[in-house]
Amino acid sequence: MTHVAAIDEHHPTVVGLREVLAKIAAARGSHEVELVAVSKTFDADAIRPALAAGHCVFGENRVQEAKSKWPALREEYGGIVLHLIGPLQSNKAKEAVALFDMIESVDREKIATAIAKAADTVGRMPRCLVQVNIGREPQKAGVAPEETAALLDRCRALGLPVEGLMTIPPVDEPPGPHFAALKALADEHGLKTSMGMSGDYEEAVHQGAHWVRVGSAIFGKRPPLDPA
Ligand SMILES: *Cc1c(COP(=O)(O)O)cnc(C)c1O
Repeated sequence: MTHVAAIDEHHPTVVGLREVLAKIAAARGSHEVELVAVSKTFDADAIRPALAAGHCVFGENRVQEAKSKWPALREEYGGIVLHLIGPLQSNKAKEAVALFDMIESVDREKIATAIAKAADTVGRMPRCLVQVNIGREPQKAGVAPEETAALLDRCRALGLPVEGLMTIPPVDEPPGPHFAALKALADEHGLKTSMGMSGDYEEAVHQGAHWVRVGSAIFGKRPPLDPA
């Protein structure tokens, strides 16, 4: 217990967290919404105030970075649920399966197969989402909308517990129609959705998002990422 700090309600991260939770509560109507607090690029000291305030669902986009922060934080705080929200390479599948409780970025058969194999080896199967390239952007990760049904079939055959569809809509277009398209596709398959970030999570919640992935509105501005 000596490690666990008291809640500091005036810490900017705690203020941000409370504000995001309040806006979600106002936007969600009667459906359930889970806030994934995206802590990528922020170190353990920056994350602790959110943990001390009772938040336990976090998202990271890189396996290596997550591995350097979360095992220690898990020794300090119970109940942490960690989502991988960035692209996964087959050679990192074992590490990802050992560390993450949910992998949101399953977007091709090769990675689904690698996760299934890794789960067998590690003896632990994370929950999964299939990432959809809803705006059909050539450079973007995600399965094409029209190929989603086939990938879902493959995931089921491999034993992956797929709970929903995840997307990142095009940055230069209004997100609303893309959120609606993802929700419609998810409904066809009886699945939930992960959509909405700091700039548009309220809109995503209005459109029925089950998970929203919010980083900078909680933790503050990130240093710009390298374009790679
Ligand atoms: C970084 C990131 C987010 C959070 O972005 P913010 O704009 O800081 O809220 C959400 N989803 C994915 C996939 C990300 O990589």
